[in-house]
Amino acid sequence: MNLAHLLARTARVCPERPAVALGEGESVSYGELFRRAAATAGCLRSALGLRTGDRVALFMANRPRYLELLYGIWHAGLVAVPINNKLHAREVAFILENSAASLLFVAGDPNDDWRLWCASAAGLRIISVDDPESLRLTSGEPIAVVPRAPEDLAWLFYTSGTTGQPKGVMLSQRNLLAMTLAYFPDVDQATPADSIVYAAPMSHGAGMYNFAHVLVGARHVVPASGGFDPHEILSLARRFGQVSLFAAPTMVRRLVDHVADHGADCSGIKTIVYGGGPMYIEDIRRALDVLGDRLVQIYGQGESPMTITALARRHLADRAHPRYRERIASVGVAHSVVEVVVADADDQALPAEEIGEVLVRGDTVMAGYWRNPEATAATLRNDWLHTGDLGSLDADGFLTLRDRSKDVIISGGANIYPREVEEVLLRHAAVAEVSVVGRPSAEWGEEVVAFVVWRPGLCAPIAELDRLCLGSIARFKRPRDYIPVAALPKNNYGKVLKTALRRHWTQPGEN
Ligand code: AMP
Repeated sequence: MNLAHLLARTARVCPERPAVALGEGESVSYGELFRRAAATAGCLRSALGLRTGDRVALFMANRPRYLELLYGIWHAGLVAVPINNKLHAREVAFILENSAASLLFVAGDPNDDWRLWCASAAGLRIISVDDPESLRLTSGEPIAVVPRAPEDLAWLFYTSGTTGQPKGVMLSQRNLLAMTLAYFPDVDQATPADSIVYAAPMSHGAGMYNFAHVLVGARHVVPASGGFDPHEILSLARRFGQVSLFAAPTMVRRLVDHVADHGADCSGIKTIVYGGGPMYIEDIRRALDVLGDRLVQIYGQGESPMTITALARRHLADRAHPRYRERIASVGVAHSVVEVVVADADDQALPAEEIGEVLVRGDTVMAGYWRNPEATAATLRNDWLHTGDLGSLDADGFLTLRDRSKDVIISGGANIYPREVEEVLLRHAAVAEVSVVGRPSAEWGEEVVAFVVWRPGLCAPIAELDRLCLGSIARFKRPRDYIPVAALPKNNYGKVLKTALRRHWTQPGEN
């Protein structure tokens, strides 16, 4: 089993089909993409002397050659280490050293920054894909796909590290194949007429959705801007039709605002898969109103990539369902390739509606953390992946996430789930964004504090926010303090860094 066979198969069946394009530019065909991957593989092994299992890192923004390099790496029996290109040089240096990568693909001109980090990673070679010399990679002698076992490592995925150093999640060939096969029943029926647009980093979940689309011979489009621009996404959708994309909740919001403000046509969009972080009910409702029934939600984490639960299009569309509100607030039902339970501290499954830790097992669950047996043992216990997420299942199997276990606020002995409070505050017209965290309190252990970003030109009196909370949630859950901020601290994937917010009182002056 080698993921490179997915491309080999499609290239054999339909070599002429367009495979990869930059924006509306000309496409490279599947036949050519495969030829380039096979030639790159030959070069990696012979000219560069890499051996089966060696790690090859990619540190670059989305670009059409991303796929050619990934498939070249797998074709050669190597392990890909895609790195988010927005990471700080220090974080990149850590990943290069931790993964002991032998080769790094970068974009742009080598500059001093690179030399600096690379000095710390012994024996690392660097190739800039913008250097015309790098094209020699694809002119070498193609080789046959190097066989790999299902449990062999394919992708070393570094967690976003909202706390501490990132950890290298070991994703095997089988993990990624299981994830790919689950896409079809649980997320969307990808077809050869589809185009996947990479609006989010290919080093992360968006890039992992390449497999399902390679499998069916769909088109892969990298936006010319290299990022997420709602106007560009919509014009690509008009140009290609049947466009699918993975988007973080903040991106969905921007797209919705753009469509609403400009009355833009979004009929070329087939599916927007959202996930990676919570999306609030009011935002989901608005997205469905503005974009129509084009949304699917997934819940996953690097440790079970893109594949824990999914909230299908039909569930998001079923507005007449008696539990519709609960359902759209949930992350849906277990993907077909995994088992999901909500368990107590002893890993015993809890009855419906009780809150506990979300545990997962199945073929998508990682083999462990790279060279980190302690973290592996703490996360993979009793046969289950311990996600660190708290949630509850309803009687129909829909999972509702409460919070990360470390974000729960314990005040006067009672558990308060910040998300519940955030959902309420977001209903206020003056609140653009909010994040609720616990502040140490001599009296209560912790007390609830809300960091609020006001909408431009607006601001609400505290008494009004208090009234809103008292009208919907228990008195003890309402914030004791509101701290206005210009923006919430977020990591490169748009996730709010609650640890950074808590520093407001542990290290005042840093925020
Ligand atoms: P990462 O491994 O960086 O992708 O982060 C995974 C974490 O993001 C999960 O453990 C959840 O806490 C959160 N997450 C992912 N998908 C969702 C979702 N659909 N709704 C809420 N939180 C999510």
